[in-house]
Amino acid sequence: MKNILLLLFCTMFLQSCSQTQKSNPMENQASKSNPYYSRTNKNKLEVSNEKWKKILPNDLYFVAREADTERPFTGKYNDFDEIGEYYCAVCGNHLFRSSSKFASSCGWPSFYEADKNGVIYRRDSSHGMERTEVLCKRCESHLGHVFTDGPAPTGNRFCMNSVCLDFERDK
Ligand SMILES: [Zn+2]
Repeated sequence: MKNILLLLFCTMFLQSCSQTQKSNPMENQASKSNPYYSRTNKNKLEVSNEKWKKILPNDLYFVAREADTERPFTGKYNDFDEIGEYYCAVCGNHLFRSSSKFASSCGWPSFYEADKNGVIYRRDSSHGMERTEVLCKRCESHLGHVFTDGPAPTGNRFCMNSVCLDFERDK
């Protein structure tokens, strides 16, 4: 009887642990101390990197503002298939719907379609490659690149850095 109770307790403990871990990606540490973060304000932001550096966590700052790339297979949304909306982690602008996310083997979260009012594009010839950079339309933060080897219906693959995304699960 004692063993059964112990087992029950352990199972409950493990369950509550996994639930806590599951809710972690939803937390947005950045927005708590970020006065520019808004899910409703669409006005373009013009904030210097000097200012962003003081506001954003280091890992987000270097990817979003200095076009660094997070290591493949390390991002929180790479292996992630919950239903909801993805926002810019820097400014809160809407970027993607989970229905356009697909399982890609590239190591970064991939989408076949972006919110047309959410992103802009810029030619990127760095690192000896010709690529199309994807930036947030509101704050012009670097999000990743878009390639033309994606699935139907668009054939596009938006290869994004998890750290630049903020996910909110459907209610
Ligand atoms: Zn943004």
